[in-house]
Amino acid sequence: MHTNSHLNPVIIASENGRGGAVAAMELLRRGGSAIDAAELAARITEDDPEEHSVGFSGLPNLLGQVELDASLMNGRTLETGAVAGVQEYGNVISLARAVMEELPHVLLVGRGAERFAGEMGQKPADQRTFASLDYWRTRFTETGVELTGAELRHIVTRLTQPLHLEDRVPHGTVNYLVRDTHGDLASAVSTSGHAWKYPGRVGDSPIIGAGNYCDNRYGAVACTGSGELAIRVSTARSLILYLKMGMSLDAAGLECLAEIVQLNPRVGQYMNIVAMTPDGQHAGFSTVPGKHYLYYTGEMTEPVLGERVTNG
Ligand code: ASP
Repeated sequence: MHTNSHLNPVIIASENGRGGAVAAMELLRRGGSAIDAAELAARITEDDPEEHSVGFSGLPNLLGQVELDASLMNGRTLETGAVAGVQEYGNVISLARAVMEELPHVLLVGRGAERFAGEMGQKPADQRTFASLDYWRTRFTETGVELTGAELRHIVTRLTQPLHLEDRVPHGTVNYLVRDTHGDLASAVSTSGHAWKYPGRVGDSPIIGAGNYCDNRYGAVACTGSGELAIRVSTARSLILYLKMGMSLDAAGLECLAEIVQLNPRVGQYMNIVAMTPDGQHAGFSTVPGKHYLYYTGEMTEPVLGERVTNG
């Protein structure tokens, strides 16, 4: 049930979420819901051709195709929707929402998700731009698509497990955590995943409990970084569970970082977390130093960068 209270709206985002946060705050100030604001914010990032880790103009997989993943969660109802491995449709966050609202499922992948997008009235369109293809051309010639399965596996292993930090694979994601004026929470995550990933590879972003979780009673959490790590230790839901068991926000986040470090991440692998509690406290965490996140509350005039707490 909604309370009638008029709380200060709050938006927490990854660093690339400025445009989405500004638009979402306008919506929240007009009394919009957390779930609408989270979806709107992610759509704006997805539509931005300059943002190469999310939506249109995303990073290409090993075959030069853009495959998108997204999820969102309603903290009031614990309803959630997600899609993964979607080609030819850019607004995967809205597709995830349609999965949540129109189907008795929580996650659709690949062909089924694309079919559903068509049914929902989305128009198919090439999500690659010159820039996204360039990420591919820098690594492969056009003949790359002719490679055998064994050769592709060798390439993806070499590219995604760099021996040196400077060989790090490009990747990124947008995270939005929202509290509306009623105190409802919602979270949205959208990504094209890792550049040069093996076709069909899915990271943490559409995996509820790994890259995204939200519960009005305890808080909202989302991740960016090397998704395989967050999947292996269920980072987003774990942080929420630590809050439920009484830990402070900082202690819960640090515990999640410690779990990531215990996995012995490979060179270049890292994890970033953003988290918010129902009373509007927020924090960012990262296994590497020097990282930031964005926060924006109703009485502020623009989103501001906060430092992520690190154990690295
Ligand atoms: N977490 C995303 C994934 O693993 C990528 C990223 O955030 O950099 O697909």
